[in-house]
Amino acid sequence: MTTSELELILRGGRVIDPAQGIDGVMDVGILGGRVATVAPALAPAPRTKMINVRGKLVLPGLIDTHAHIYEHVTGMFGLNADLVGIRSGVTTVVDQGGASPLTFNGFRNFVAQPAKSRVLSFISIYLAGGLMGHSHAGLYGPHGIDVGATVRAIEENRDLVKGIKTHAEIGGYSRWGIEVLKLAKEASRRARVPVYVHLGGMWPVVKESEPDPDSILNQVLPLLDEGDVLAHPFTRHPGAFVAASGKVHPIVTEAVMRGVRIDVGRGVHFSIEKARIVLEAGIMPFTLGADLHGYAVKRVKADAADAVPAPKGRRSRGNGEQLTATFNLHQAMSELLALGVPLGEVVSMVTSNAAVLLGLDGQIGTLAPGAVADVSVVRLERGDWTVRDASGVELRLAERIRPDFALREGVMYKSNSPLVPEVITAAA
Ligand SMILES: [Zn+2]
Repeated sequence: MTTSELELILRGGRVIDPAQGIDGVMDVGILGGRVATVAPALAPAPRTKMINVRGKLVLPGLIDTHAHIYEHVTGMFGLNADLVGIRSGVTTVVDQGGASPLTFNGFRNFVAQPAKSRVLSFISIYLAGGLMGHSHAGLYGPHGIDVGATVRAIEENRDLVKGIKTHAEIGGYSRWGIEVLKLAKEASRRARVPVYVHLGGMWPVVKESEPDPDSILNQVLPLLDEGDVLAHPFTRHPGAFVAASGKVHPIVTEAVMRGVRIDVGRGVHFSIEKARIVLEAGIMPFTLGADLHGYAVKRVKADAADAVPAPKGRRSRGNGEQLTATFNLHQAMSELLALGVPLGEVVSMVTSNAAVLLGLDGQIGTLAPGAVADVSVVRLERGDWTVRDASGVELRLAERIRPDFALREGVMYKSNSPLVPEVITAAA
């Protein structure tokens, strides 16, 4: 293939592609929805479209490994896939546990198929799926799990389902012990996909059978295989990585050594203090899901929105509501930079590592020639911002990453989602 055939050239940006070990100013040439070449000073043909991206970062299409996008079916909890995805500069979004073995066809036909973003799923271990963010605890537990149905749903939907979402948190544990995770692992081994385990709090704790939170990981980790994923290492809730002693639970390091992976799953329970403790213990997350959902989004009524003019680029929804998020994937990336994680490592988490987690390495999460032309162009801005977590702890940011535009199979989408936070000040 000669460069004279190129349809599109992204000119002069700083290309970071951890899968290929590239970090330098280069052009990216696109042809037929795929990356054709990455090299300095590509020569355009007369009809080649040129986009000047000087001063910007050109990254493989960002992959958000923890999203909640089973819109409508999961109630307020589920956001629109493209508002979280392509219109936020994120080319792949992975729904975590919204769709279930009983409701998967709805997810395929009403969410994944119409989306402009690449939509994948970690299917819920519960037959109910993540209705209203699991707010009705009585629907859940071992009685609401059918391992055979889960395995069948995975086998019938391998193009979309890349793992199983489950929980090992203190509220569920106080009801059912470790049984849910055992069933999830049975399905995971039979279907040969990883489990993604939510740690920390979610359901209210049954006081009479409240476990010692630090005992939970001791029972969780021996069940996990290489490639399984622990989520929410930075949660402020007990029962996760940081023990009551204030130190990282000693068996976490052993699990990481044998190939258990960690996803940030930033979410509303993100604790800056806990993040520092975990990172200072030398534990590095593998991937960085934002865990944005409908309860972390502000909905402003139309009349209130009328009184305060919408910031540039914001759009009102058809029902007169205006949405804005309190954090997003790019903010979570900026937070990791401020916590001392190098930029290349942060980019790996949302590109090459995420592709490995999904079993799609070489196909997405890289700008290698022949890969799908999913590309995220972002701005790395310097300034002085403050993030405040839900405990009121503040983090100063000297840099922040903002989406500019993205290509999905070579087609350009501006990052104009109203969910992109306008100002970084407070988080949930
Ligand atoms: Zn979540």
